[in-house]
Amino acid sequence: MRKIQMVDLKGQYAKIKDEVDHSVLEVLESTAYINGPKVHEFQKNLEHYLNVKHVIPCANGTDALQIAMMGLGLKPGDEVITADFTFAATVEVIALLQLTPVLVDVDPVTFNIDIEAIKNAITPKTKAIVPVHLFGMCANMEAIMEIAEEHNLYVIEDNAQAIGSTYTYTNGKKAKAGTIGHVSSTSFFPSKNLGCYGDGGAIFTNDDDLAHTIRGIVNHGMYKRYHHDVVGVNSRLDSIQAAILDIKLKRLDSYNQARQQAARAYSKAFEGQKHIVVPSGKTGCATICNDCDCHVFHQYTLRIIDSDRDALVKHLNDNGIPCGVYYPIPLHRQKAYQDSRYNEADFKVTNQLVKEVISLPMHTELDDEQIEFITSTVINFVNS
Ligand SMILES: *Cc1c(COP(=O)(O)O)cnc(C)c1O
Repeated sequence: MRKIQMVDLKGQYAKIKDEVDHSVLEVLESTAYINGPKVHEFQKNLEHYLNVKHVIPCANGTDALQIAMMGLGLKPGDEVITADFTFAATVEVIALLQLTPVLVDVDPVTFNIDIEAIKNAITPKTKAIVPVHLFGMCANMEAIMEIAEEHNLYVIEDNAQAIGSTYTYTNGKKAKAGTIGHVSSTSFFPSKNLGCYGDGGAIFTNDDDLAHTIRGIVNHGMYKRYHHDVVGVNSRLDSIQAAILDIKLKRLDSYNQARQQAARAYSKAFEGQKHIVVPSGKTGCATICNDCDCHVFHQYTLRIIDSDRDALVKHLNDNGIPCGVYYPIPLHRQKAYQDSRYNEADFKVTNQLVKEVISLPMHTELDDEQIEFITSTVINFVNS
C-alpha cells in the first residue's frame, strides 16, 4: 500500500508536472512576475467558471477577507457575526479592523453557522454576517440572505474551503459557493481544493462599484497611478502562482469529484457504526440533495460518539494514518477572542464538536486500498 498522507500534493503534481513546469518556466522567461498576463488570464477563467462578474486576485485568503471588509466600508465598532467553529483567520481580520466579532454557534449536522443563532445575535450595531462554508459544504445561504435583507446587512462568504461547491436553492436554482453573498473571499493555500504552490487568494463579487473599490484597495489605495484615494494594502497574486492555478482550475471539477468519491467510499464503510457520525452530504442546500454538489469535501470530518476521540487520533497515528482535529478549541474560548458578553450556554454545539471531531486523510489521490485500511482501523478501534 502507498504511504497514506493527509494531503498528497506530490501525487497530484506528478500528474500535471509537464504542463506546470512548462508554464512556470514561461513566466520566468517573461519576467512579468507581478501582474503579468497569467494573472489576468486566470482571473478571467475563474470568473467564467464561477459565473461571477468580478474576481480580484490577492496574496492569500486572510487578506481576501480583510480587503472584502475594507471594501464594504465597515467601521470600528460595527458588529460582524461569524461562526464560532472555523479557522481563526475569519475572526482575526474582523478584530484587526477593530470591528466587533460576534461569534455564534453552529449546526451539529452541517457544522455551518446556525441560522437561529444569527437571528439571536443581531443588534442595532450589526453590519455584516460572515458564513464560512466549512469543510467544503456551502452554508444555508438562502436563509442567510433572507436575514441579511430583512436587517440590511452585508454577507461576506468565507469560501476558502468550498471553491467549486454548488448551492441549490429551494426553487432548484443553482449558484456556485462564493457568488451568493455581496462579496466573498477564497484561499489558494496549497492544501485547499484549488491550491497553488505558495500563498494566494481572491475576492469575488457581482457588484461593479465594490469591485472597483477593492481593485484600488489591493493596490495601495490607488485608482490612478500615484494618487492614493483611500488607505489600501499591498496584496497581489504572483504570476507564477496564477500560471499554476490556471492549470489546476481546468481540473477543479475532477479534483472535487475525486474528493466526493473518496467521501462516499468512507461513508459507505462507516454505515451502521453507532460510534461514528459521517458528514452529511445533503443538508447544506435548501433542498434535499443526496447526490448534489453542495459539498466538495475540503475535509472529511467524522464525529466520534461515546468513544475516545483523542485515543483514536493516537491509534491512527501509531498505524501510519495521519488525521487532524479541526478545530480543537472554539474561537470564543481562544485567549485573543474572549469576550465577557459570551455565555457558554450559547455555544453548546461547538463545545461538543471540539471533543468529537476528527478529519481523515482527504485529497485527490486516495485509493481503495488506503480507504479500506483507514476505515477498518477506525472501526476496529471505536468498537474495541
Ligand atoms: C485557509 C482559510 C483561510 C485563510 O486562508 P490563507 O490563504 O491561509 O490566508 C480563511 N478562512 C478559512 C475558513 C480557511 O480555511
